Amino acid sequence: MKITSEEEMLAFGEEFAKNLSSNVIELVGDVGAGKTTFTRGLAKGLGIKEPITSPSFTISKTYALKNGGNLIHYDFYRLNDPGIMLDDLAENLKTNKNIIVVEWGESIKNLLPKNHTVINIKYNDDDTRSVEL
Ligand code: ADP
Ligand code: MG
Repeated sequence: MKITSEEEMLAFGEEFAKNLSSNVIELVGDVGAGKTTFTRGLAKGLGIKEPITSPSFTISKTYALKNGGNLIHYDFYRLNDPGIMLDDLAENLKTNKNIIVVEWGESIKNLLPKNHTVINIKYNDDDTRSVEL
């Protein structure tokens, strides 16, 4: 589908939160495509009130969910060796009470369940985004 503004991406994320088919979502797209923007919308749809900021420098950020689980937002950008974060991710994947969102997951791909959701976001010249599930 085509998404023409930041607001629309937020709304898409928010709506998506209500129709999750997997608790693990991998976001694929270049820098600035809108992966973190989508996650902000998703978090809103999950009832999270805190502001969502990019985990680029911290690798992961955790937000409490109402069901006792957490939304855990990972960003493995330029992290060729995820090191201890591999264990962290594996641990968090053990319960599907958690909702796991991964940006730049190439280096940890093997850990993600086979049936996880992949969302491709492509940046178009006219500033719109093409989104594919
Ligand atoms: P990523 O996490 O993929 O690097 P971000 O979500 O951090 O990308 O940044 C996307 C940027 O592009 C934001 O500044 C957002 O306001 C802007 N933007 C403009 N149009 C769109 C759109 N249609 N969808 C998503 N983001 C958009
Ligand atoms: Mg990002």
